[in-house]
Amino acid sequence: MKYLVDEDSSLWLYFRRYELKEGPDGRKYIMPDQNSYPWPYNVLEKKEELVLDAVNVGLLVLGKKSEDVIQDAVMEFVSKYGLLGMMTALPVTPEYMEYDITFFPPNRFIREKGMNTDDYQKIFYPFHDLEKVRKNLEPDWDDRKQLSFWGMRNITSYQPSTVTMSFMHEYAEPYDWVVTQFKDWAYMLTCCYFYYKDGKLKDLRTILALQEGLAAFGGVYPSYYLMLRHKPTISWEFYSLQQFIHLMLSFMLSDEKNPLRLCKYCHNAYFVKDEDSWFCGEACKHKYTANGNDFDLEEFIGDEW
Ligand SMILES: [Zn+2]
Repeated sequence: MKYLVDEDSSLWLYFRRYELKEGPDGRKYIMPDQNSYPWPYNVLEKKEELVLDAVNVGLLVLGKKSEDVIQDAVMEFVSKYGLLGMMTALPVTPEYMEYDITFFPPNRFIREKGMNTDDYQKIFYPFHDLEKVRKNLEPDWDDRKQLSFWGMRNITSYQPSTVTMSFMHEYAEPYDWVVTQFKDWAYMLTCCYFYYKDGKLKDLRTILALQEGLAAFGGVYPSYYLMLRHKPTISWEFYSLQQFIHLMLSFMLSDEKNPLRLCKYCHNAYFVKDEDSWFCGEACKHKYTANGNDFDLEEFIGDEW
């Protein structure tokens, strides 16, 4: 049972198309195209591809690629897997809507320990009235768009209503937050790379900085319960794609046989097939032997360091 997850299904919804819109506050938001329809997929089936794609988007950000290149990669990712579900991922509980105040563990996005729940949710609905959005939790069966939404949503209806709200047409995520999240995942991988690569790390300052760097990216974890199948089996409850990717990435970085690693030549993420391999393929290995192209930690991470 690799990564401590059974091969059951865990469904998530994505829309076929997303757009980048400027909000009333001048901030950029990603949200579903209003004429696009939601579609389900099994995140457990796609976990390797999903984490690899997420980390590779983050590596573009860490590697300081142009804004256009980063934006295209982010939009391609959400059009393939959906938004991250940050609204549900950040609070201490996915049931936060039942309380007037929403509380947060230490995180990269909200510095306050608690915030008025309405104010918190408004961050994710910059183009719509929050009360109207909440009313849509009671489906209007005469509305064709809603009918399609609820048809899909029913597949995952055991989840809290905040998750339903994060699948709605009106739901938007601040673009800069999504980019930061991708960057943080790439940073986790980069920390592991430099920590173990070639045994070259000698100075204590670097070692401590990398250890601290990795420890900083904790977060709220999905809940789990024990199911009695042919043997006792752990089943995870994911309330956001963000939690799912974060947990899977942690499993994949710590996997003994086939960990996720950075290619020494092309600097893309890949799954190690042979423990001693530091290249995503033979082509990169040959090019590295011929030219050399290892990258420098401080140069790559720059200001983050
Ligand atoms: Zn490579």
